[in-house]
Amino acid sequence: MNAEFEKTTIPNRVEPHSTTEMRMDWSNGASFAVPYFELRFYCPCANCVDEHTGKRTLKREDLMGDVRPTGVNAIGRYALQLLWSDKHTTGMYPFNLLYSICLEKGLRLA
Ligand SMILES: [Zn+2]
Repeated sequence: MNAEFEKTTIPNRVEPHSTTEMRMDWSNGASFAVPYFELRFYCPCANCVDEHTGKRTLKREDLMGDVRPTGVNAIGRYALQLLWSDKHTTGMYPFNLLYSICLEKGLRLA
């Protein structure tokens, strides 16, 4: 998916960076601040993406601007479940997807 991310790359630390951004520190030394809104928008679950066409059915205007995570759960060694203030709980984000969101929507800290 991208040159930096390897199978063994995992998030070491995930915590609030500001009132609007998540900080994600990765095992390869990279670190990013990513807007909560973008993380929520890129939720890969079947409520947000059409399973058959792969097309995103969620629209930006459907989301509250101040949407934020209320919890993070590890799903094995490959994904994080993000729980959201809009009660959305079905998003399981594979690490490679999270890394791509970091690269495309995040601010690189290290
Ligand atoms: Zn979703």
